[in-house]
This record gives sequence, C-alpha cells and structure tokens, in this order.
Amino acid sequence: MSQLFWHQMNKEELIETLGSSEKSGLSIDAVNERLAEHGANELAETKKLSPLTIFLNQFKDFMVLVLMGATLISGLLGEYLDAITILAILVLNAVLGFVQEFRAERSLIALKELSAPTAKVIREGKQHSVAAKELVVGDIVLLESGDRVPADIRFLEANNCYVEESALTGESIPVSKHESTLYEAELPLGDQRNIGFMGTLVTRGTARGVVIRTGMATEMGNIANLIQSTEEMQTPLQHRLEQLGKILIAVAIALTIMVIVAGIMHGQPMYGMFLAGVSLAVAAIPEGLPAIVTVALALGVQRMIKRKAIVRKLPSVETLGCASVICSDKTGTLTQNKMTVTTLWLSDRTLNVTGEGYEPVGKVYENNQELDIKHDNSIKRLLQISALCNNARLEKQEAVHRKGKVMVEQDEWVLNGDPTEGALTVLASKLGSPAKLLEAQYKRVQEFPFDSERKLMSVVLEHQGGRIIQVKGAPDVLLEQCTHILWQGKVVSMTPALKTKAQKANEKMAQSALRVLAFAYRDLHTQETCRDAGDAERNLIFVGLTGMIDPPRAEVKDAIATCRAAGIKTVMITGDHQLTAEAIAASLGIIPRGGETMSGKQLDQLSDEELDQRVENIYVYARVSPEHKLRIVRSLQRKGHVVAMTGDGVNDAPAIKASDIGIAMGINGTDVSKEASSLILSDDNFSTIVAAIEEGRGIYENIRKFIRYLLASNVGEILVMFLAMMAGLPLPLVPIQILWVNLVTDGLPAMALGVDQSENDLMKHKPRKAKENIFARRLGWKIISRGILIGICTLGAFWITLQEGDLVKAQTVAFATLVMAQLIHVFDCRSSRSIFHRNMFENKYLVLAVVSSLVLMLGVMYIEALQPIFNTVSIGLREWCLVIVAAAFPTVFFGIGSVLSGGKSKKKKKWHPAANAA
Ligand code: ATP
Repeated sequence: MSQLFWHQMNKEELIETLGSSEKSGLSIDAVNERLAEHGANELAETKKLSPLTIFLNQFKDFMVLVLMGATLISGLLGEYLDAITILAILVLNAVLGFVQEFRAERSLIALKELSAPTAKVIREGKQHSVAAKELVVGDIVLLESGDRVPADIRFLEANNCYVEESALTGESIPVSKHESTLYEAELPLGDQRNIGFMGTLVTRGTARGVVIRTGMATEMGNIANLIQSTEEMQTPLQHRLEQLGKILIAVAIALTIMVIVAGIMHGQPMYGMFLAGVSLAVAAIPEGLPAIVTVALALGVQRMIKRKAIVRKLPSVETLGCASVICSDKTGTLTQNKMTVTTLWLSDRTLNVTGEGYEPVGKVYENNQELDIKHDNSIKRLLQISALCNNARLEKQEAVHRKGKVMVEQDEWVLNGDPTEGALTVLASKLGSPAKLLEAQYKRVQEFPFDSERKLMSVVLEHQGGRIIQVKGAPDVLLEQCTHILWQGKVVSMTPALKTKAQKANEKMAQSALRVLAFAYRDLHTQETCRDAGDAERNLIFVGLTGMIDPPRAEVKDAIATCRAAGIKTVMITGDHQLTAEAIAASLGIIPRGGETMSGKQLDQLSDEELDQRVENIYVYARVSPEHKLRIVRSLQRKGHVVAMTGDGVNDAPAIKASDIGIAMGINGTDVSKEASSLILSDDNFSTIVAAIEEGRGIYENIRKFIRYLLASNVGEILVMFLAMMAGLPLPLVPIQILWVNLVTDGLPAMALGVDQSENDLMKHKPRKAKENIFARRLGWKIISRGILIGICTLGAFWITLQEGDLVKAQTVAFATLVMAQLIHVFDCRSSRSIFHRNMFENKYLVLAVVSSLVLMLGVMYIEALQPIFNTVSIGLREWCLVIVAAAFPTVFFGIGSVLSGGKSKKKKKWHPAANAA
C-alpha cells in the first residue's frame, strides 16, 4: 500500500505517525530534539544588506565622489599630505555613517522579532504560548478566531471553524474546516478541508490540530519566495528630508560655485579654490541627516519598547506625535481584565459572592446571611451553565515568590483563556460545581463560540441520553431570545413584567460598573443538532444574571488627565453595557461636563453627516460592534483628527487599519489585529499609548533639534566662506579645516541631540498638525538667524586677526571660532525657548560629544605634528578672548533676546475637545 497523505489518515494513525499524544502533546525533550533536527518553523528570509555593502554605500554620495576625485588630483599634483588627510577624514566619515546606519538596520530587525507571531500549544499536558517559530511537527496547536495558522496542521477538532486561505488558493471567502478523514488521495489544497495551512487565517470558531509540516516544508514555504514583500519603512518625515536634502544640495552647489568664482576673480589660486569649494560643498550638504533621523527614530523606538510599546511601522512614530484622539477599548485596556463575580441575580433575589482573584474560595450571601445552595435549583443551573458554556481553564501552578530574603514556593491559580469566562469558572468552583466534575457528566457535542457581533456563546451538551443547549451572553441580547424564565425553581412563561424585572436588575448592576452576563438554556429532542447559532439561541429559558467587577487600571486615570493636558481626547469604545461603560468612564474622568455617551443602536440611526456634527462631543460608545468602530474613526478623521484606535478582535482589523495609528493588544490581541496595527501594546495598557505618544512627540522634537543645529552650522560655514570671497579676503578656512568641522563638530553633537531628554512641557501643549512643516514654529527663522550670526562672528574674528598680517593665525582663529560657536549653539538647540531655559549638563552624551570635539580641536591646534596638516598655529590668550567672545555672541545675543521677550515660545492654550479640528 502506498503511503497515505495526511488528510487521508484517521486520528489514531496521525498521532502515531507523528509520535505525539492528542491529550498531552509532545514532551519538552521531544520538542528540543525535533527543533535541533528540523530547524525553526520559519520561512527563509530575503537577503539583508551585508555590513560591507552598508559601508561601501557611504561612498556613493555624489559630493563624496567629487571630493575623492579632487583628492586624487591633489595626490597627482604631489600634495600627498592633503590627499591622505582628506582621504582619512572621508573614511572616518564613512565609518560614522556606517555605524549610524548599521545600528538603525539592527534596531529595525530587532523590532520585527518583537512583533513576531505566537502560537498556543499543548506540551506535557499543559497549555503554553510559544513563538510560532518554535513549533515542531507533532505539536498540538489550539486555534481561535483571529489566529494565523502557525504551521501546516491537520485538524483534530473544529468547532464552527472557518479559515480564509486566499494567500494560497486565491479564494477570498473563508472555507469551513472539519476533523473528518478524507479518502481521496490527490486533492487540491482548496479541498483539503481537514488541513490548516500556515499563514492562513481563522476567521470564526475554534479548533485544535496537530502540526504536520513546519517552515519551508509547508505549503506556504513552497511559494514563500513569491510572496515575500518588504515593507515601506521610510517615514513621511524621512521622505520629506530626502526631498529637502536634494534642494539643499542644489543650493550648496550653487553657493559653492559662487564662492569658487568669487575667489578666483579675487586672485585666489584655481586649484586651492576648487578644493576649498568642494570641501565646502561636502561640509554644507547635510548628507548625515537621513541616517541621524533613522538613528533617532530607531533609538526612540527602543525607548518605546522599554515602555512596553512595540512599533511595527516606523512612520507611526511620527504620527504618534500628532494624535489628537485616542479611541480605546474598555476591557483590558482601561480596566485590568481581572474579573471577579460579586453579584448574582435570580428570581428577583440579589446575592453577593465573596472571594478574590482566581482562587476558588468564597461563599454566597443574601442580605448578609450565608446561603445553603445545595437544594437551590436556579443557582445550580446558573453555575452549571457558567462552568460548561465556557472555554477557560483554571489551573494550580507552583510559583516561587520572594518573601523578605527567602524564596517561598506557593501554589497559584492561573487562568488560561478569556478572563470573563475565567471569572465564571472560578464562581462555579467556589460554589461547588467545578467544571471538571460536570464535564465528566456532560459531553459537549457542539459549540457556537462567543463573538462580539452576536455577544452570545452557546454549547450543545449530551447528558444521560438527552441533549441540552446552554447559552450565556449580554443580557439585553439574550433576554430577547427567552420565551420562558426559571422563576423560584419552576419554568414559567416570560411575561413583560418578569422581563422588566430582569432588565431593571441588569441596569442596576451595570450602574455600579459591573459587567453583566445573562444565562439561559433549552432542552433539545434527543440527538438533535443545531444548524447554526441562530438556530440554537432561540426559545430559551432565562436563568439569571451574574455581575463581575473589573477594576480600572490604577495608572489610567492619570494617563487620561495627561492626555487632556496634551490636547488629546480619550474616547471609550466598548461592547459592554452603556451604564457599565458610563460608570467606569466617570470613575476614570473620561467624560467632561457636557460630554455625551452613545450606544451602538443610537449610532445606527445617525447618518454620517449627523454623526460628524456630534462626534466631537461623544466620549463613550457602548454596546458597539467592531464595524461601528470604522464609522467612528472615519467621522473623527473627517473632522480633522489624527486618530489612534485600539482593537483586539479579528473584526477590529478594518478600523485599526483605517485609523492613523492602529493599536493592537500584545497579550489579548488576535494575530489579525496585530498585523493590521502599527503599534502593539505588550501590556495591553492604555497608559502605554500615552507613553508612546510622549515618546513620539519627543522623537520629533529631537529631530527638529538636530536639524536646527546641523543646518544653522551649515549656514554659518557657507556664509563665512561666501562673505570672505565676496569681500575679496583670503580663504578664512582651508579645505581640511572645513572637512574637520563637518566631521567632528557636526557629527557627534548632532547625534547626541538625537537622544536628548524631552522638555518638561512636552505633554502640556496641543498635538502638532499632521501636515506641519518641519521648519514650522519659527525653526526656519532660528536656523537662518543663528547661522548668519555664527558666519558673521567667525568672519569678524578672522578679519580682526588678519589685521596683524598672519594669515595662518587668522585662519586658526576662524577655525576655533566656528567650532566653538557651534559647540555653544548646540546647547541652545535643546530648548524651544533659549539656552537659559534648560540645564546645560543634563544630556550627558551631549556634554561628552562637546568635550570630545573640543579636545580634538585643541589637538589639531596645539599638537605640533598636526599643525602643518591642519594649517594651524598655537594661539595665545588675546586670540582666545576674541574667539570666545565671537563664538558665544550668537547664542548669548538670542538668549538675552528671548529672556527679555519673556521666552515667548508657546502660549498655553486651554484644551477644548474641538481644539484640533482642522
Ligand atoms: P471592549 O470592546 O471594551 O473590550 P467588551 O470586552 O466588554 O468591551 P465584548 O467582548 O464585545 O466587549 O463583550 C460584549 C458583551 O458580550 C459583554 O458585555 C458581555 O455581556 C458579553 N460577553 C463578553 N464575553 C463573553 C463570553 N465569553 N461569552 C458570552 N458573552 C460574553
């Protein structure tokens, strides 16, 4: 008999062939062995740039090539010293550029790794979450709606499971999957309904399967090379800077030509002028700018990672700084997602349940009297549904804690699964109906998993030859499907009066910020199965309600206040009940006076125009479905807002994609939402979004700082040469000095500015406009005015010294003045106001960079061996006084100006919800 294909085997054959166990999966040893033998479950990557290529790319720059040509000419003319020094400087320049770019590249790769997908597996009988690349053949994998299938698997169990396989088959409509054996040998991929293919997407349902192929052996591996796409990692700012760079090159070249022509006309030697001109052009063109921007972005991204925000798309770093609205989920993001059932409502009785966390210890009270529930059928029924219409698992795990100086071993209850369901599992265990016990008596034959559209979950169970449907979900939805109610132990018709009682109880619990779930059931005729969820969830018998607390996260209230001060509006969008949402929003300070809340139903009744008119005053959307989110995002965007939107489910992906900053949850998010997002919160926490926005703003300001520094320096450099040539003076700086200034003075301090600490008021002003020009807020003026003054002061110092008749001395003074002026000016660039507004020594890197630049400058001025190379002489105290006065003048002048005008950089504007409208 020829060997069977995977889809032809039955469960036993499969498990045996793969050497696994359906219940407990593989052992860790077996996993390690298989991993060592077959390698990681990864698709081969496209080639990365080698370090050598990155290094050689540094010499591709047009002006660097011209300079190398010029160096060659000077070499041929016998100016060996010049040639070697220029070459050395160029190589150093390339090394600096290489280090910057290499670092940037590495950080980007590290980023990708961080957002790599994970998979849920059963190993040694326990559920684990592992990196998808660590999967091996034989692993038992759990899948649910929103997951990407992490390897090729054969299904062992599929509950209403649909998978979208368009990447492989081109078929965009999800196909249903099952676990039954298929008998035909040669089946096209689209017909292999019991196989899940790596990279395809579970759109509905849940499933369990065993891995049959990993990595390049999978079907996706077969076509991997065809589908690998590289993502656009350049940010809009980088793109604009590239454009700007081109303009600056043109300007620099034009000015250089003017300098050369003016110099030659005034009798300067042609060769010397040519070299000076080209050096000037090299110095004046901010060729390092793109690399420093990348480094600043990449380092900022690293800082964000430390604050638990993982950036998936670099451009979002910039957009973060412009965010004017954050639309956030409630459960898990604003709240802790640690649910505990505290209240029960049955037959018009309100009961309280004690106990905390996941430990299944607690009692039930009515009017402060402990209840004996042994003979209470209603409660027992509710507990039964809680335990069985549930996929969460509660497990006891050994954990080691530090108690003072000793480590103590302690058993800890750990929840696997959805926290809402976890709370119900705990409730059932607390009150004597543990799931394990019940599962032995009730066999699950069908499941219609929870989805946030239906807001219900149901199961069909078999018990003593009969079948029963159990349903739980949002009370308002479930009540509509109930024709009867279990009232004081008896099933009676659901009268309007009884229904109102249940609704009132629901509202009362919701008003106290409780998350409320309702429970119902129906007996089926023997062996009956349900066609679909609609078929199951009808004609039900209502049992009761549970109310669970989900405390707000402690740090969120402050984060929301920070947002408000920063001109960012927080909007809660939740599937939960309006009253629950309002109670939690109120406790977090989300709704300002006069702010409105809206339900999904009300939203449905509004046209887009009507929504646009009201959208800016709505702070809470409750009982919404994922597609409502898309409408909200679009409406806010039409009002000119830059919207950050969180989401976790598979249906949230369109809204996440449509928003300006799509945010997914690292812990509870589905793969689909993560893939659609540009930012992942590794702790699912709202405050992390605020931290990321703060970093985003900081990064942008730092980029502005070093653009300001570099360009002002360049203006100064060009101007000093240009004015000297126009005035018929000799060259104030020789080519090597110009290159030296470019390398040492510009490079290190600019990089240090890229990692500068943010100013204190970063989160105290409105977000910047998305289309804001990088030179906005007077940056252009600052660059030009400071640059002009630096140029004039340097030239002044040169001219004064030149009166003594010693050109080399005058050039040394000009060199020292230019370097010093820039090293003083760099501190000014740290503040949006003036040098006097910040502690100069706060940025240690900057202090180090400035000190190193100073030492290097003194080195070329005072080390005798270097003096002829750098055309310097030792200068005395009188010259130093001149240098220091001329160098400090530009910064001090503007600093005093700023202090006198009251440091008027920003008028603090009061925050108003509509403040960011276009
Ligand atoms: P958010 O969008 O803020 O995360 P949410 O988690 O409350 O809000 P959903 O998960 O869509 O939103 O839940 C909506 C409602 O569905 C809940 O209020 C609850 O009544 C019900 N519900 C939640 N989880 C389940 C579940 N596992 N089974 C049945 N019903 C559920």
